Amino acid sequence: MKVYLDNAATTPIAKEVVKEIEPYLSTYFGNPSSTHSFGRQTKNAIEINRKKIADYIHAKSNEIVFTSGGTEADNMALRCAVIDLKVERIITTKLEHHAVGHTAENLKDLHNTEIIYLSTDNYGNPSISELEKYLSENKPTLVSLMHANNEIGTLLPIESICNLCNKFENVYFHSDTVQTMGHYKFNVKNLDIDFLTCSAHKLHGPKGIGFLFINNKLLINPIITGGSQERKQRGGTENLYGIVGLGKAMELAFSNIEEHMNYVQNLKNYMIEGLLKIDNRISFNGAIEPDKSLYTVLNVCFPNDICNSMLLFSLDIHGIAASGGSACSSGSTIGSHVLAELPNQDKCQSVRFSFSRYNTKKEIEYTLEKIRKIIIKK
Ligand code: PLP
Repeated sequence: MKVYLDNAATTPIAKEVVKEIEPYLSTYFGNPSSTHSFGRQTKNAIEINRKKIADYIHAKSNEIVFTSGGTEADNMALRCAVIDLKVERIITTKLEHHAVGHTAENLKDLHNTEIIYLSTDNYGNPSISELEKYLSENKPTLVSLMHANNEIGTLLPIESICNLCNKFENVYFHSDTVQTMGHYKFNVKNLDIDFLTCSAHKLHGPKGIGFLFINNKLLINPIITGGSQERKQRGGTENLYGIVGLGKAMELAFSNIEEHMNYVQNLKNYMIEGLLKIDNRISFNGAIEPDKSLYTVLNVCFPNDICNSMLLFSLDIHGIAASGGSACSSGSTIGSHVLAELPNQDKCQSVRFSFSRYNTKKEIEYTLEKIRKIIIKK
């Protein structure tokens, strides 16, 4: 049996998405910038999908800029905030994805941008009182806090953080929503948020495509210069099949979002219960309560005395794909920068299981059975 429980890394592409893309690989090939009928046809497909995607998050079409994925979207938000919006500092945490963390550090080197890391609690939640204190200093600032952490699943209350940021002049708010776009409902109109990001391959779409939502009250220049595509905000011939695939993936995600949420949350609950039955010393990294935790992610802390560093490898032998965070379990020499911020990491082996609507209860049962055997053998 093959069980894929690494959906936070990437998701399998939905068959409906493949079907939607196919004509744009085989039949419709015109350059969307061409003015003849071949070009008009593909330009039309792009604009239909842009509108469709914008509608799902209550945005306007001109607030969606297609990018090569989450990394570029995060880069664009941070770089444009510094270069165009003239922010002097970025307030974030040490738990952000490297697309944010490394970009912030790069902006510090290039533009002398001040980077402030908020302290975080044992579950990865940033200190909101610290944030408020910094914001009251009245400096042009970008706050960049991810909606859900990709390694531990901790879900931040971005609505209240956004409301807090909006109380201050010259404060912009970016949230990396790469792990949550297509998994939760968004209403950017009500939120009045500045930047949101999306990567299609996290929601059963194709790789190499995503978008940045930019509130249309903001005036930004491209970070990728060239042609005047994307209303002069990103040069380069559009990733036509990617955009068509992303539109379909968003449609599939949003048309049954509550059903998917309940289904996947139940799989996660079943996994939690099953693990605790195997050994009640097993614990979890990050928050696990449904309203504080992304329902697709479960980061498990297996105590060292019941499990060795070969757990991930043993799971792989049984056909189960999960991912590790700590140095020994991932086979990498560099440990996770996220887990490094959490307590008790030297006492356990951390493994991230991440689920999708295509997983089944049977697969979770199989995984639990293998974990039980691996642990007992040890
Ligand atoms: N941000 C988060 C939270 C992610 O999980 C990822 C992907 O792992 C990214 C950004 C980068 O997205 P992409 O792979 O589309 O560049």
